Amino acid sequence: LWNKVLELVAARMNPSSFDAWFSPTQQRSFQDGVLEVAVPDQYFVNWLKEHYMDVILEILRSFTQSDVRVIFTIDPNLTSRTSYEPEDLHAESTESRRAEIKESNAIQVIEEPIGLNPKYTFETYVVGGSNQLAHAASLAVAKQPSRAYNPLFIYGGVGLGKTHLMHAIGHAVKTQDTQGKVRIYYLSFERFMNELINAIRFDTMQQFREKYRNIDLLLIDDIQFIAGKERTQEEFFHTFNALYDTQKQIVISSDCPPKKIPTLEERLRSRFEWGLIVDIQPPDFETKVAILKKKAETEQIELPNDVAMFIATQIKSNIRALEGCLIKIAAHSTIVKEEITLDLAKRVLDDILDVKDPGSARSITVTLIQEVVANHYKIKVEDMRSASRLRNVAFPRQIAMFLARKLTDLSLPAIGQFFGGKDHTTIMYACQKVQAMTQEDVTLAKEVETLEQALHT
Ligand code: ADP
Ligand code: MG
Repeated sequence: LWNKVLELVAARMNPSSFDAWFSPTQQRSFQDGVLEVAVPDQYFVNWLKEHYMDVILEILRSFTQSDVRVIFTIDPNLTSRTSYEPEDLHAESTESRRAEIKESNAIQVIEEPIGLNPKYTFETYVVGGSNQLAHAASLAVAKQPSRAYNPLFIYGGVGLGKTHLMHAIGHAVKTQDTQGKVRIYYLSFERFMNELINAIRFDTMQQFREKYRNIDLLLIDDIQFIAGKERTQEEFFHTFNALYDTQKQIVISSDCPPKKIPTLEERLRSRFEWGLIVDIQPPDFETKVAILKKKAETEQIELPNDVAMFIATQIKSNIRALEGCLIKIAAHSTIVKEEITLDLAKRVLDDILDVKDPGSARSITVTLIQEVVANHYKIKVEDMRSASRLRNVAFPRQIAMFLARKLTDLSLPAIGQFFGGKDHTTIMYACQKVQAMTQEDVTLAKEVETLEQALHT
């Protein structure tokens, strides 16, 4: 079936794009309305989903007269025939190539979600001395885009709430926009760069520029990655100017102020300083407690005061770590069926914090992953090393393998050792399977994420 899809896709796009994105793909199975397609890596999964899913589904529907689901599995043995050459960045394209590309654009159904996390709003943001200014500036920008401060540049350390504030601005602007006319776009700077590279690679700069010049509120996260990327700086400079000149709002975040971003061109730096630059400092004790209580409230966790205060003293600054602790304690209390008490919190945190340096997270080991996953699925830790194929045991085991691969630096054979000496292909298969399943199944993805958070803190 996949080969038939390929034929039709090939007829509709330019050969070099087809070669790059579709040649290294293979059908694995087609069962019960689910078509499994193997691709070389995660990048392919994202790219195909983002740009070609609609076309693929449309073609499939025309073949089968019913809805077919497509899942991608990763198989690193499939390699792309045409590898990407950096020189492409400067390649001149011929007229004929341009024509081909025009055709292919017809099927590049690019539907961009504006990319906002519903949890990150002003309502869920706790204001304290450390973030007061950034919060006030964000509110002002949300109320009067392009008239308060433009650009608004927010900087601060990891996990201090920059992304949360940017999403909050997006939500607020969206809520005020009763006619649905305002075009909002949130993305990481890395994503901007990837889009740019693709535009250059597939000769679609025109579309790229148009897209960015038609945005009313551009929220660009983690711009510090701009360091050293000359071509991207150049393009971002033009994007910035085009938006600024037409009074469109730009909000930028970074882990450091503009003058500390290495190799940032002077002309960009001075533009970042045209508006307002605000920082977010690590939260003080009271703010940390307030954040914990708010989080507990939204997650419906019974959190006594003394426990909130205890966590706040243990975690120095990172708010993500603060939340991670809370989730871990709550998860533990559910598993052992005990209420959250100071005693329980201490036991859990003892387990996850390095005694010598409270505040820093303990490194994640395979044994810890096995414990946490076994606990969560209510199976025995020994089952992690068994050869049982019973699904209620085998599946948690695969999740643990997947997490071990993701969260430790161990090689596949080394991870196999922890699981009763399993072969590296078994581990690889588990990783691919879980990866593919989390992409299809939101509930499972959430579950895996919660486990990961519990491990992190
Ligand atoms: P950054 O982008 O600065 O690394 P994030 O915005 O991702 O940090 O924040 C990390 C986590 O902490 C998120 O879950 C966010 O909701 C939470 N958080 C950060 N600051 C606050 C705050 N002031 N009130 C409530 N939650 C916060
Ligand atoms: Mg962030």
